[in-house]
Amino acid sequence: MKTNQLGLSFSSIPENVGIARMLIASIGAQLDLSLNEIEELKVAVSEAVSNAIIHGYRKNPGNIVFLELEIENDSLKIIVRDEGCGISNVEEAMQPAFSTDPERMGLGFVFMQSFMDELNVESVVDEGTTVTMVKYLNHISPSSH
Ligand code: ATP
Ligand code: MG
Repeated sequence: MKTNQLGLSFSSIPENVGIARMLIASIGAQLDLSLNEIEELKVAVSEAVSNAIIHGYRKNPGNIVFLELEIENDSLKIIVRDEGCGISNVEEAMQPAFSTDPERMGLGFVFMQSFMDELNVESVVDEGTTVTMVKYLNHISPSSH
């Protein structure tokens, strides 16, 4: 059963990465996650939203990025979606250090993978990309605070 769900859609401008970070930090605090876990969630969301803006929409500011959060008793699901150019080879794109931009490190997916418990990327060329990330919520480890 979902205990909370939220959605935010915003223009594809870099300023809005900070808004997305604030939203996830606020939810993380509400869920009583540790500061470290909240920091990790912020990085994962930043990377996915930045990818949508930089790659999906090729830095064109006139598009919309969709962020959805679904909180259940034992999990937090984060969905970041764009209706941009899509990824032709998702498996290749997710490899560490792979980037289509020689100026970039190609580490965004690596961070998402390492900071979240599940990562799934669905993409269709010329239709867009949906990144779904899940963090398991462990209510019985107050020592992690
Ligand atoms: P970094 O995140 O380190 O700045 P990067 O963005 O290139 O570099 P990743 O975030 O791992 O690295 O993404 C790898 C590649 O996947 C990108 O270079 C890009 O080609 C492709 N990609 C990722 N997200 C999207 C997206 N939403 N739409 C289109 N292509 C994407
Ligand atoms: Mg990236």
